[in-house]
Amino acid sequence: MNAPLPPGARIGILGGGQLGRMSAMAAARLGYLCHVYAPEADSPGMLVAAKRTVAAYDDVPALRRFAASIDVATFEFENVPAATLDALAPLVPCRPGVTALRICQDRLQEKRFLAAAGVPVAPWHAVESEADLAAGLAAIGLPAVLKTTRLGYDGRGQAMLRTAEDAAIAFVRLAPKPLILEAFVPFIAELSAIVVRAADGTSATFDPTENRHEHHILDLSFAPARIPAEVAARAREYAVAAAAGLDLIGVLALEYFLLPDGQLLGNEMAPRPHNSGHWTMDACLCSQFDQHIRAIAGLPLGSTERHHDVVMKNLVGPAAMTRWPELLSLPDVVPHLYGKQDARPGRKMGHINRLLPLGRLAAGDEATCLRGL
Ligand code: AMP
Repeated sequence: MNAPLPPGARIGILGGGQLGRMSAMAAARLGYLCHVYAPEADSPGMLVAAKRTVAAYDDVPALRRFAASIDVATFEFENVPAATLDALAPLVPCRPGVTALRICQDRLQEKRFLAAAGVPVAPWHAVESEADLAAGLAAIGLPAVLKTTRLGYDGRGQAMLRTAEDAAIAFVRLAPKPLILEAFVPFIAELSAIVVRAADGTSATFDPTENRHEHHILDLSFAPARIPAEVAARAREYAVAAAAGLDLIGVLALEYFLLPDGQLLGNEMAPRPHNSGHWTMDACLCSQFDQHIRAIAGLPLGSTERHHDVVMKNLVGPAAMTRWPELLSLPDVVPHLYGKQDARPGRKMGHINRLLPLGRLAAGDEATCLRGL
């Protein structure tokens, strides 16, 4: 597939979450029709799709029918089984491809890949057995973080280790194995950089973002990150190098820890639009979702220029939803809800973007920037 997809072409999205929903809405604006494939009916993506398939990711006949009904396939979360893309790839272009998916699904592969791409990472040790854990602790020391290599998100599948006893308990509790032991990073900020890469290898980056978590779930993103220009440039360069190393077509998010001396350590990658890029929907001419669709459809990439400073706040669980009418009354806030019926604790229901004049974040009055959020 080399020519750009014409208006009216069909884009298949594996996964029915909010990232697929916002991608489908961006695709619709560009004149495309989206077919969402997910195991759950009435998922946020299904609610805005032109076509829906409710089927398991290993339902090969359903995948074949899906492939026959679309011009390109993408995925909106990286826990889609690699075998699903393997089944689709001979039938329809898959963007990003299965290699990027496999690497980003596995923290061990991800760490090896990042190091090879020139992105520094914290010391780590693969842990399959208690003997590996002991060797890892001897090499890395405490405190440390023990994580599942697969299927972890929003802090699930990981444990903070302060003592040898914590390590023994976490080793028994954490599943599936293998695990990865990482040195605890005394970061001063968590950052992310989002890059979009086209089929011809051209790429563009958004301004690096500063992220704050509550109970391991992203709470606030600030763009631009309040960091030296040289650090921001490095965050962009690493993201571009990672996307090139994956030969990625689409959007990639790279999360970092910022150390007091200005060093950046790569933490996690996602080969898809990312929660820390939701601010681009209202503060840039072309959002991360627009860019993802442009890249996979073979269109020219759009501008990543930011026309406002912005704070993104996630609306998580029932408490956030009780504030919804009040948040809507804030004049400088753009609201986004994902169409989820049930506001369970910890569930991302939507987000809001507060637009601020350019330069306001750097001016340093954070309390004013957050007032009323
Ligand atoms: P992750 O799932 O790897 O993104 O981890 C979720 C959150 O846990 C991160 O955003 C950090 O706040 C924290 N965390 C993860 N790994 C480490 C580490 N090696 N050192 C310090 N904090 C960490």
